[in-house]
Amino acid sequence: MQVDILSLFPGYFASPLNESMLKRAQEKGALTVSLHDIRNYTDDKHQRVDDRPYGGGPGMVMMAEPVVKALRDVKKENSHVVYLSPQGAKLDAKKALELAQKPSLVLLCGHYEGIDERALALVDEQISIGDYVLTNGCLAALVLMDTVIRFLPGVLGDSESAKQDSFQSKLLDCPHFTKPVEFEGVNVPEVLLSGHHKNIERWRQAEKIEKTIDVRPDLWFETTGDEVKDSFIKLFVKNLNVSLKFYQNVVKGTINQIDDRKAIVSIDNYKFYLVQEEVQDLSLNKKILFSRPFTKKQRVIKDPDGYYWSI
Ligand code: SAM
Repeated sequence: MQVDILSLFPGYFASPLNESMLKRAQEKGALTVSLHDIRNYTDDKHQRVDDRPYGGGPGMVMMAEPVVKALRDVKKENSHVVYLSPQGAKLDAKKALELAQKPSLVLLCGHYEGIDERALALVDEQISIGDYVLTNGCLAALVLMDTVIRFLPGVLGDSESAKQDSFQSKLLDCPHFTKPVEFEGVNVPEVLLSGHHKNIERWRQAEKIEKTIDVRPDLWFETTGDEVKDSFIKLFVKNLNVSLKFYQNVVKGTINQIDDRKAIVSIDNYKFYLVQEEVQDLSLNKKILFSRPFTKKQRVIKDPDGYYWSI
């Protein structure tokens, strides 16, 4: 991938491009970066590229002419031009993966109050790295480039690892552990030492789901995609028929009554009846978790052993 970065401070990129993965991606030939100083495209004898905004107000605005000249010079036929801007669509993993398919990216960094609107006709899309304002676009360009190169073949070594990280399939990543087995009295979860790959995978998936529900319920509620549903459904080892009132949010409950084949869970003033068909191990005082359903008919609970059930 060819990346051309247009900014007023090409020196800004020196260190990040010479360290870690951005350096490795270049060494491996997966990434070529060219830095362009927008000041080289002005005819002004003082190399001035900004001026006061029309209509008054604070700050300076980058003039259209040097930006347009720079873009026209650098842009190739197959280039995708991105203006880093707080007014753009928010960068996420999906967008990073999409941009990683482009053979050539031109990253335009703004400074001061931004760029004269008329220069933006040459831009294919505007991307923001978050709902906050940076002093200039250089850091944003680095953030974008760093996440994009993770999807370039050969850069991470293990090509699957980027796909397992947080936000792929809308789930946060599971906890990770390395040596020693015991640290300050806390042990690595036993399942990870078991060598039982299926159980390890199941544990990891359950942890991802639980973490996402706890920390980013907004992501969890978006998990209507088949990818998540499929991996989720693999966890459902048995069917549990449950008559459950519609409950809007994720809530935790405790089984506080079991009679015959019915378990009763009280949450606030609601009672939920779990009709036990095949599951033998629901027992008193076990904690379970309800989440908002994928669909109106489908609901999800986590059983006492940490497994999730489609209901
Ligand atoms: N007046 C602009 C506004 O309120 O939208 C902010 C301009 S900001 C001080 C200067 C430059 O920093 C922008 O032109 C843009 O290139 C970059 N920038 C600032 N925040 C950013 C963000 N969240 N994402 C991407 N780029 C950003």
